[in-house]
Amino acid sequence: MDKKQILYLVIPCYNEEEVLPETARQLLLKMNSMFEREMIAGESKIMFVNDGSRDRTWEIIEELHRQNPIYTGVKLSRNKGHQNALLAGLMTAKGRADMVISLDADLQDDVNVIDRMVECYYQGYDVVYGVRSARKTDTFFKKFTAQSFYKLMKAMGVDIVYNHADYRLMSRRALEGLSKFREVNLFLRGIVPLIGYRSTEVAYERHERFAGESKYPLKKMLSFATDGITSFSIKPIRMITVAGFLIFVMSLAILIYSLVVHSMGRTVWGWTSTIVSIWAIGGLQLLAIGVVGEYIGKIYMETKDRPKYIIEKILEE
Ligand code: UDP
Ligand code: MG
Repeated sequence: MDKKQILYLVIPCYNEEEVLPETARQLLLKMNSMFEREMIAGESKIMFVNDGSRDRTWEIIEELHRQNPIYTGVKLSRNKGHQNALLAGLMTAKGRADMVISLDADLQDDVNVIDRMVECYYQGYDVVYGVRSARKTDTFFKKFTAQSFYKLMKAMGVDIVYNHADYRLMSRRALEGLSKFREVNLFLRGIVPLIGYRSTEVAYERHERFAGESKYPLKKMLSFATDGITSFSIKPIRMITVAGFLIFVMSLAILIYSLVVHSMGRTVWGWTSTIVSIWAIGGLQLLAIGVVGEYIGKIYMETKDRPKYIIEKILEE
């Protein structure tokens, strides 16, 4: 591959006026050092996506762009959330860049890993996941919730990379693949592995946010996790079916038990039939809901209209 390809850094920003100037400075240093080593082409950019911030974030981005055209900006019409802002940036960069790295505005992701990601790209990887090696700086609460999140996702059958947030490099064709996923409920971490192509991981240590506060309070984290599960798996519906089946089986056991007790004459008149019907009907109802749910799950997956395959290569003369 001819060295020197165009790199875009995509950074979603929501009320980040406190960190933005410092982030811009550090990323520029990084880009300059890569220009010097001729790792990336001169058209490379640092692209900030303003996700409907209510503070001076956009003014700062405009000012940066005036000072140095290496900075560019995309302004969303209103706050659409981290995942949507990120997608907007990635899709804007898609036609312009050969590779794109997404990272957070707070520089919790170590910028020194960018070089390694770019090297992996030149080695032929289409997706490079940044993976946290340690969570020393996170609070116990953040660590615990994050770990439970990965475990839960796994249990629900969603294929995500452990300890990987949205710090990753994607090649142009990986972005083309991503653009084929037209779903509204966006959970990028789950979609990227579905795109395929050669991928690898680079490890880094996550730093503390150096200013401002997290835009992911518990409420947003929970809704993020729920989104992740419900947009990738219909296991919760299966669980209803299984519960219904188990309860129905149990009702048979209870039928035998109550008949035995009944035959020994130790029951009140009407108890046997009442108790058996409660269990049997309850079980059958759950089972029926599960079956209906199974079809709704199918419809749900159909409406997502996901690409059934992405072709990597065709051999032609
Ligand atoms: N972010 C965004 N829109 C939102 C919330 C967050 O674009 O509605 C951005 C934010 O500016 C940051 C990134 O998403 O660049 C990650 O947010 P944060 O650092 O607050 O999350 P945490 O690291 O605490 O999980
Ligand atoms: Mg952060």
